[in-house]
Amino acid sequence: MPTEETVLVTGGCGFIGSHLCERLLDDGLNVVSVDNFFTGSKSNVVDLLGNRRFEILRHDVTFPLYVEVDRIYNLACPASPVHYQHDPVQTTKTSVVGAINMLGLAKRLRVPVLQASTSEVYGDPTVHPQKEDYRGNVSTLGPRACYDEGKRCAETLFFDYYRQHNLEIKIARIFNTFGPRMQTNDGRVVSNFIVQALRDDEITIYGDGSQTRSFCYVDDLVDGLIALMASPADVTGPINLGRTSEMTVLELAEKIIEIVGSRSRISFRPLPTDDPKMRRPDIALAERVLGWTPKVPLDIGLERTVAYFEETLSMGRTAMSRVAAE
Ligand code: NAD
Ligand code: UDP
Repeated sequence: MPTEETVLVTGGCGFIGSHLCERLLDDGLNVVSVDNFFTGSKSNVVDLLGNRRFEILRHDVTFPLYVEVDRIYNLACPASPVHYQHDPVQTTKTSVVGAINMLGLAKRLRVPVLQASTSEVYGDPTVHPQKEDYRGNVSTLGPRACYDEGKRCAETLFFDYYRQHNLEIKIARIFNTFGPRMQTNDGRVVSNFIVQALRDDEITIYGDGSQTRSFCYVDDLVDGLIALMASPADVTGPINLGRTSEMTVLELAEKIIEIVGSRSRISFRPLPTDDPKMRRPDIALAERVLGWTPKVPLDIGLERTVAYFEETLSMGRTAMSRVAAE
């Protein structure tokens, strides 16, 4: 019998999940990462593989899971619009059936369970900034609905298990988060722009670039998730987690070009359907209840992420030249 707590992280080989696993191991816990490797990979957790307190299970959360753990972080779900729209039916199943399976596991074990929800539950918001009591403006029919409605239904399930089965639940509404270990082909704006800038390729702005987002560095986000899980049982959320400084996508492109020192030019592409025009969290609740506020300035986070992609791309080039030489 292990003496330390064992924590289950679904989606633990993805971008945020891998940082969360690393942090939980640093805190001395046993960690079980469950992942089907749709958008995650073992390379994200390669540095953790030698740790005897770390374990990976290849498993799809749309199927029941039988493990013995003390806490559950449910992060499994592709988060990039490109990836979640690739197989929209599977995206909805992952959010909805995955939530039912993880809630069922938590109910059997009587352990707390945290849901990685999203600012997408607010859709294309008509209220700004977004507070937790805003009910959102979401299309049930559009290409983002598989993700948005899946995540909304997951929140509903969490609250029904809370009321019906007295389960300890925690819901984090995560706003745009970035950092090392996003994939080079992730498709989200920060990784796209950095990879394009490093390659001196065109920076692809969708629409006129006037839409806004608020970007949070991954270390801060992980701090928020851990603080939420550690909060008293009556703190259920939903709680917004994100950075409050808002910028346009055009401003982000210009900032990344400057940080990279890139020769890239900006090109404008069609705006995807239902792309939210503005997004900024109100984080007063997280500040008050969790004592949490993001600490990493945007420029520092971007510099760390640029350094990560520089290394990743140069490793890719080295591997290509090795193959070419063989
Ligand atoms: P990601 O795509 O890098 O990670 C998702 C992980 O879940 C991957 O490892 C993937 O392989 C795994 N996965 C997907 N479907 C699965 C399934 N059916 N069974 C098991 N594993 C599965 O995305 P991320 O940015 O790390 O996001 C993690 C979580 O946080 C997601 O639930 C996402 O909705 C939420 N979130 C992220 C952001 C953000 O800006 N990064 C914003 C809001 C919400
Ligand atoms: N975007 C862009 N160029 C890209 C990728 C994204 O202009 O190469 C825009 C996208 O249309 C959206 C914003 O950047 O307005 C954030 O997109 P992302 O996919 O990162 O996340 P979202 O917040 O839309 O889920």
